[in-house]
Amino acid sequence: MANFKSRKVVIVGAGAVGSGFAFALAQSGIAEEIALVDVNTDLAKGQALDLAHGAPFYRPVNIHADTGPGAYRNAAIVVVTAGKAQAGPDQSRLELMQINAKIVTSIVSDIQSVNPEAIVLIATNPVDILTHVARLRTNWPRGRILGSGTVLDSARFRWLLAEHCGISPQNVHASILGEHGDSEFAAWSLVHVGGLPMDDYCSVCRKCDFIHRRPQILEQVRRSAYHIIGYKGSTSFGVAMALVQIVRAILRNERRVMTVSASLEGEYGLKNITLGVPCVVGAGGIEAIIEARLVPEEVQQLAHSAQILKENIEKLGQGTP
Ligand code: NAD
Repeated sequence: MANFKSRKVVIVGAGAVGSGFAFALAQSGIAEEIALVDVNTDLAKGQALDLAHGAPFYRPVNIHADTGPGAYRNAAIVVVTAGKAQAGPDQSRLELMQINAKIVTSIVSDIQSVNPEAIVLIATNPVDILTHVARLRTNWPRGRILGSGTVLDSARFRWLLAEHCGISPQNVHASILGEHGDSEFAAWSLVHVGGLPMDDYCSVCRKCDFIHRRPQILEQVRRSAYHIIGYKGSTSFGVAMALVQIVRAILRNERRVMTVSASLEGEYGLKNITLGVPCVVGAGGIEAIIEARLVPEEVQQLAHSAQILKENIEKLGQGTP
């Protein structure tokens, strides 16, 4: 275990994402305390009580509802899921920006006032922009404010590739990079199946003409959230499990490579922007950013995604709400 003073995790927002994450985190056994905070205090209380009743079935963890800012004291990690979600399959994540920027800014100001040592993990959308805004607000080292980025999208990508190839997703290494949103892209040059680069794997497998399937698979990844929201109104389980992986990597100092949202300071030729790139995640949050050798087309796609995010941050006015 990493040398944290506590393994307390605070979850802000006890809705679909926050409660799904709390459920998965409780079962993971990695936290010793989970505090749920929501402006809807009854919701936080109800979720905490419901979860606490499973206590005999998982390793000891103190689950309770709390109210900020006092709740943030002694937390190793604060995970922010509070805010508006996409109202339906026609609403993009970027359309949530104005309202959620105000919510996230006020939450991180509260965290900073009582626990300036915490690691803050943002999941609220648009996650890249809100992680950027939160970092500007706190001026913390970039490793300590990270977003869930394209960790979920990369998992969706790995699953779709695995289904296509008939191989376990654990033997498929693949990343979606850029905005967690419509401009995200597949880094095809980094895909490995069973330890082989994708093209080599295809030349061994020869069951399909995979090059023609690529655009469909990427589109399925990009549209995943819209499809799920169309069916059931929100997405929660996938993101919950992705958040557990990130929190585990931090609390256990796993130094896992994940495509979290990171502030770039010259990597990939980009500055003053926050988006999903491969990062080493450990006890300090983002320990390092890996500058993968992307092919020129992918470098352009990353720059395009950065440009879209920058234009939207400018719309927020001065970059900070
Ligand atoms: P939800 O409406 O079910 O829950 C949001 C909760 O936030 C509500 O209970 C609300 O009362 C609470 N809240 C609002 N303002 C607050 C504040 N100032 N302090 C504390 N709590 C506050 O929504 P959801 O489906 O859980 O989605 C939450 C966010 O997560 C959305 O922005 C959604 O787009 C995002 N999301 C992100 C990912 C990802 O991969 N990063 C995936 C799915 C959803």
